[in-house]
Amino acid sequence: MRAIASEAEGCMDVEGCCSFDALVAWALPRGVMPAVVPPLKKVTVGGAIAGVGVAATSFRQGLVHHAMRELEVRLPGGEVVTCTPDNAHRDLFFGFPNSHGCLGQAQRVRLATLPVRPFVHVRHGHYRDPQAFLAALARVCANDADFVDGMAFGTGEYVLSAARFADDVPWRSSYGVEPAYWQSLRERDEDYLATGDWLWRWDTDWSWYSRQFGAQRSLLRRVLGRWRGQHRESVVQDVDIPLARAGEFLGFLQRALGTAPIWVCPVHGDRPGDRFPLYSLAQPLYVSFGFRDVPQVREPQEAGGFDRLVEEEARRLGGIKALHAGSHFTPGEFDGAYGGGAYRALKARYDPQGRAPELYDKCVARA
Ligand SMILES: Cc1cc2nc3c(=O)[nH]c(=O)nc-3n(C[C@H](O)[C@H](O)[C@H](O)COP(=O)(O)OP(=O)(O)OC[C@H]3O[C@@H](n4cnc5c(N)ncnc54)[C@H](O)[C@@H]3O)c2cc1C
Repeated sequence: MRAIASEAEGCMDVEGCCSFDALVAWALPRGVMPAVVPPLKKVTVGGAIAGVGVAATSFRQGLVHHAMRELEVRLPGGEVVTCTPDNAHRDLFFGFPNSHGCLGQAQRVRLATLPVRPFVHVRHGHYRDPQAFLAALARVCANDADFVDGMAFGTGEYVLSAARFADDVPWRSSYGVEPAYWQSLRERDEDYLATGDWLWRWDTDWSWYSRQFGAQRSLLRRVLGRWRGQHRESVVQDVDIPLARAGEFLGFLQRALGTAPIWVCPVHGDRPGDRFPLYSLAQPLYVSFGFRDVPQVREPQEAGGFDRLVEEEARRLGGIKALHAGSHFTPGEFDGAYGGGAYRALKARYDPQGRAPELYDKCVARA
């Protein structure tokens, strides 16, 4: 990857195709990081905005696209437009997040940065009760942590991780395949990592998940679906639920699907003046639930049945799910959940010839 970034006042200008690991490697020596760094190294800046990206700074910073200050888009017809929150292309600035390439390609993005320190000191709180866990999560979000996320290992085991930058540390850990970061959550009350190691602490575990439950999804569906008379299907989901309903959703995942482990990450909602119609977060604080699982139930499920259960429960609770996951919405449901009217107006203005795919066709009909 060639030189990919330049500094602006409290921001960096980045090519859309730049991966976050390349960007972080460029930024840390300059004493900054992108405000939201998805925990997968190879996610690109453009992909995390055209899809959605979340990380442990999201409780304060929101999703990756909330850190966007300017966006240069190559439209499907070839023209390049620069979009800001208050210029003639502000509709595309706000409409681009969650457009999955259907409105054009992000060529360059100006992203807000955060100052960093060399180390991170994390404290892991251990809970047996989900309500106590979620109440503690709300409390730490209101305090002065720099990073907050958590893990639901099972119905009686929850770990909440709240971390702060540090200049000096008494020791430092480093994680990969073995020892794995997730194992340390169960064993430790506190830990210290170099900031770069901290940002990628989940990368190994997440890659493993992706291989197991993402790339091999269709194979798993075919093979596991016939096992032992039980009904299984791989489920990859990231769902954002308003904090007030998060306990219900967590209970649903555990009871109805038996899902574990579940990554739990608080996310700040849209701020006043933000209006991202294709991925609207109208409540002040959400909880993002990320899981890749192969649930088992005895009742037969039609293909995509688990995904449908998740979609219906998310909708009932006022949540929204990311579209990189398996999606099975009807066109009407999809329109209601992902700003159908605004999307059509954007499509008419920026892709009148229909050169790029339709969002529904790309994200749902392919499922
Ligand atoms: C198993 C799994 C685990 C995940 N875990 C996390 C997580 O923990 N945290 C997190 O933040 N995210 C997570 N994600 C989501 C991930 O960040 C999004 O799917 C993101 O969109 C991927 O970006 P990418 O660069 O890998 O792009 P791709 O996967 O290649 O593309 C994603 C979408 O964006 C479009 N796109 C890509 N680049 C551009 C561009 N420059 N301009 C316009 N459109 C573009 C593509 O056409 C596609 O529709 C996960 C996804 C999976 C499948």
